[in-house]
Amino acid sequence: MDTKKILVIDDDGLVRKSVQNLLCKAGYNVTSASDAFKAIDEIKRQDFDLIVSDIRMPGKNGVEGIREIRGIVKQHTPKDIPIIFITGYADASEELKADLLGEVILKPFDLDQLLITVREYL
Ligand SMILES: [Mg+2]
Repeated sequence: MDTKKILVIDDDGLVRKSVQNLLCKAGYNVTSASDAFKAIDEIKRQDFDLIVSDIRMPGKNGVEGIREIRGIVKQHTPKDIPIIFITGYADASEELKADLLGEVILKPFDLDQLLITVREYL
């Protein structure tokens, strides 16, 4: 079976690193982006099987970024990419919008729990 590819988006370097390490150790091929703009560039460059994204980020927030990414993906393939949002700071309205797009996990989160959720989708 092919190694599954995951895109991790978070402006917090520590979170990005810990999630990346966790998923790499679990055998996934992980690419990370520090903001939604870089994430959009990555999605134009390669296909991913799953995205883990922060919501509150400077510039473009995770919900807007994921909407744009979904639009780009749908131009190329009928399939949708599962989204897991990890957030500690999103306001209720953003959280609600995120909920409609994918799964929402609140920070501080347990890394084991995140891995369990990732495995549910892949
Ligand atoms: Mg953030």
